[in-house]
Amino acid sequence: MRLSGITPSGHAQLGNHLGAIQRWVSDGGPDDLYFVSDLHAMTTTHNPGRLRARTSEMLAVLLASGIPAERVFVQSDLARELGALTWILECTCSYGEAARMIQFKEKGSGQPGVRLSLLTYPVLMAADILLPGADEVPVGEDQNQHVELARALARRFNSTYGEVFTVPRAVLPPTGARVRDLADPERKMSKSARDAAGVVFVLDEPDLIRRKVRRAVTDGSTGVAYAPEERPGVANLLEILAGCRGGRPADLAGEFTSYGALKEAVADAVIETLRPIRERTVELLADPGELAQVRAEGAARAVERGEHRLSSAMRLIGAGAQHPGALTNAITHA
Ligand code: ATP
Ligand code: MG
Repeated sequence: MRLSGITPSGHAQLGNHLGAIQRWVSDGGPDDLYFVSDLHAMTTTHNPGRLRARTSEMLAVLLASGIPAERVFVQSDLARELGALTWILECTCSYGEAARMIQFKEKGSGQPGVRLSLLTYPVLMAADILLPGADEVPVGEDQNQHVELARALARRFNSTYGEVFTVPRAVLPPTGARVRDLADPERKMSKSARDAAGVVFVLDEPDLIRRKVRRAVTDGSTGVAYAPEERPGVANLLEILAGCRGGRPADLAGEFTSYGALKEAVADAVIETLRPIRERTVELLADPGELAQVRAEGAARAVERGEHRLSSAMRLIGAGAQHPGALTNAITHA
């Protein structure tokens, strides 16, 4: 089964849709699980009210995008199980392994006041993966090292204490599955980008989407051609068009003779792709009862899928009550 998550560190953006969510919908199998990783949004300064709102919004976006309700959950609803498993895995992981993580080195190490969780969150991520027994984890290049850590911890636990965990592997997206920022094509589009001018959000109104696409940075060349290295801005627009409409970016280039025409086509395609998702998300957010129900059922299902692994791991590592009779036996034999 596959497992993948999205962190509510901002509003869902077009890259999340084309590079991740859309694939989860089209390639997903009945046992797959997709979750809103709200606990991962707490490793740096955060605002509790905003986190809660973004978590609901992200859950609504996943459902509105077409992920079946029975495949989604919110990470913090499993905080007890994940917290327990994280501790077991922290006791399986060396400090050096965690400190070696590139993301930690880039974002945190050496900074004053850095949260301990920024160092340990890859271990929580290992718990996310190992609890439900995921064997495939679709992730971007930047998360590959963290899936490798989950792999190493699963192997080490299994060989030290006994077979409990499925050894997972990362599934990297095909090349070209990287939407760039419209205002700065050297950077990838990100929901937590400081400047949102070149970021199309899934919930943006059509007018705003059109304005952002029209302002997209291209280059001084004439004619439309697909050349990702030399003309990244234009290539990005063609890739976005291909992501929304299907087809290959190089073939689509032939349809256009000017950047203006290309931009109008991209704006139309993005608006039509996102419109039903925005409309359904707004409906879902207007009915907190339904969302709460999906959340509760999703949590119950996810716990059910993983709790036997947690109790086996606890037993094998020498912790927790073994079974109801164990305590009385121990007392009578003392
Ligand atoms: P942040 O800025 O907080 O890192 P993000 O937009 O990069 O946010 P993530 O939560 O890191 O989003 O990633 C969620 C999923 O979306 C991952 O599978 C990731 O590979 C994918 N993704 C993120 N940005 C893009 C992008 N620009 N193009 C294609 N896929 C993307
Ligand atoms: Mg990211």
